[in-house]
Amino acid sequence: MSDIGCSFISTTRFLLQIRFLRVGLLFFLLSILLLISGEAVLAQTLMDTGAAMSIGTEMDAGGAQSSTKQAPRGGAVGKLGEANAQRNAEINNAAGESAEATPAADNAADSGKPAPAQPRGDILKEGWWGPGGYISPIKLPLYILVFLIWVGCASWLNSDQERLKKESREALNFLYLMLYLVVGTIFFFVPIFWAAFPATVLICIVPVMIYVVVRNKPLAPHEKVLTGEHLFYLYAVAMNKIGVKIKVKKRQSYQTGPSIEMETIGKNIDPKILQGRLIVARNSPGYNLFREHIYDALTGNATSLMFDFTPERTVIRHLVDGVWLDLAPVPRVIEKGKGKDNLEEMLESAKLLIGANTNDRRSRQTGIFVAALGGGKKKKKYEAEFISQGTKSGEAVMIQFTASKVPFKSLNELGMRPEVQPKLLEQLNAPQGIFIVSAPPTNGLRSSMDVFTRTCDRFTRDVVNIEDAALPTEAIENIVLVQYDSSKGETPLTVLPDALFKEPHALIVRDMSALETLQLCCREVDMHRLFITTIRAKDGVEAILRFLATKIPPQQFISRLNGVINQRLIRKLCPACKEPYQPAPQLLQQLGLRPDQVKEFYRTRTPLPEPEERKRGICPNCNGIGYRGRTALFELLVMSDSVRELILSNPNPASIRQQFTKEGQTGFLYEGIHLLIKGETTVEEFSRVMKM
Ligand SMILES: [Zn+2]
Repeated sequence: MSDIGCSFISTTRFLLQIRFLRVGLLFFLLSILLLISGEAVLAQTLMDTGAAMSIGTEMDAGGAQSSTKQAPRGGAVGKLGEANAQRNAEINNAAGESAEATPAADNAADSGKPAPAQPRGDILKEGWWGPGGYISPIKLPLYILVFLIWVGCASWLNSDQERLKKESREALNFLYLMLYLVVGTIFFFVPIFWAAFPATVLICIVPVMIYVVVRNKPLAPHEKVLTGEHLFYLYAVAMNKIGVKIKVKKRQSYQTGPSIEMETIGKNIDPKILQGRLIVARNSPGYNLFREHIYDALTGNATSLMFDFTPERTVIRHLVDGVWLDLAPVPRVIEKGKGKDNLEEMLESAKLLIGANTNDRRSRQTGIFVAALGGGKKKKKYEAEFISQGTKSGEAVMIQFTASKVPFKSLNELGMRPEVQPKLLEQLNAPQGIFIVSAPPTNGLRSSMDVFTRTCDRFTRDVVNIEDAALPTEAIENIVLVQYDSSKGETPLTVLPDALFKEPHALIVRDMSALETLQLCCREVDMHRLFITTIRAKDGVEAILRFLATKIPPQQFISRLNGVINQRLIRKLCPACKEPYQPAPQLLQQLGLRPDQVKEFYRTRTPLPEPEERKRGICPNCNGIGYRGRTALFELLVMSDSVRELILSNPNPASIRQQFTKEGQTGFLYEGIHLLIKGETTVEEFSRVMKM
């Protein structure tokens, strides 16, 4: 009982909190009054106004019996009179006062006898509820029940929308209230109770069902409501409360919460040890918090997750599209009787999972694990690399994810403009020479190189791909794979002679910046072979100079170099929430654009003043970041004789860049302006990428 009392109090509190619900309460009280005694009062009022009307025969002291014999007739209020009469008759029926009663409405048409009107004062004297026993012990509780159902649904609807930060909250609440008030009122006056009442129940339930279907759609399984599993759970909880024990298939704690599972992995480690680590981690107190953080990071499109533990607080960061985003710092709160706070317990669970020492918070510890997101066919696995390291003020932890899928398949998907593609293919399919593919660190060099390997001509010529067994790439049809093992101290040079023995037309050697390797490759170029290689560099010119830094004779290398491509990743504006604006003329001038060339640029959504911003909610497409996904800016530089001469005579980066520009070889600036005009990125993001 106390539970019902509690929920009644909280329901009442809820009602008073929301202004328009007070109106609902008022309405309900009015309808109750009407139901109890109001019909008499209403009838009286109607009698006063409609002089010739003969309704309200039940106001006779005779009560039930006379009501079945005498009924109201037509006229200005005839319909309503009929309805009232029937309702009264039904109430009486239900009260069991007259077993033989026939519906008054049926008699209404036949009966010609006007009923004697009762003087007004007498009616209310009979008792506060009116004469004739109008309270139906069945119908009144049913209406109260339906009202409570409505309050319960409205309360849940409101709090659920609040929790999910739905922008539609107030509008939906209002709609739900109006449905109950307006349609409910109409149904209240429908004479056939057993049709009107179920319809009123439907008004309360159907909108909520529709809401649930729409709300469940985008949510993770554990957040869905009214699913089979959820209903069974609610049923079991309810039954347990009244003392009936229902066996719920017991879910382990690591199976609750977000839909994510951890797996232990490790090279050359006994599967039993791996299984043991998993069991120990699952039983540690911080395990579910660890799962939640990994889940949040992966569903928030983060590729890395960082925890910075200090004595006062822990800072959590997500790396999304190459930019670190700080989450709200978590103050260090240690519960009574514990030596660690929740996040430290979480760190301990992570360390147990990878088999690291939980007590060591100083030295560098690394390990790997797998996070499997989602379930069934939608399950996606991410390999995660864990690194922890003591810092001056505590400990820092970094978790980096790699999806087990190649993200890009074509040059278009990489974001390369169609105009640039044939020039690149010319380089990738050249009969001989050296072509460099480069990018600054963490700018997608590996993925792009994978796409280039796939795109180059591998059908009319023999292509060999030399790769490190520690960093395997996806097998590609018609490309001969030759592996070396860097963990055994091998280098590309270990396997190059064998690979060359196969007389290939083209070789992909990702790492050939060692002097000896480079010299061998230069010699092989003269045997009509093409080498495609990669290097980390912030632009094309720097890539060339990095090779020269190996002390290879410049003439030997430069004369065989065909060209270089460099790429930088730039974040794309979220299409769901970006907004257009008129760029200032000075800005256009700086970018070398005429005002008539550009109608508008785009930027991330401007925040509104606080209450409106909260009402608008966070953009679900980008989690409020404003950017979603990245594309590449490419700088393709093709060597010319004049550039070669310049590099050999004066290897100064600025003048080399100047020479390329003079020859019309457009770089990042041109590509970036192109993206700005297309509205795919912002000026701020572009300048961030240019400063790299
Ligand atoms: Zn957005």
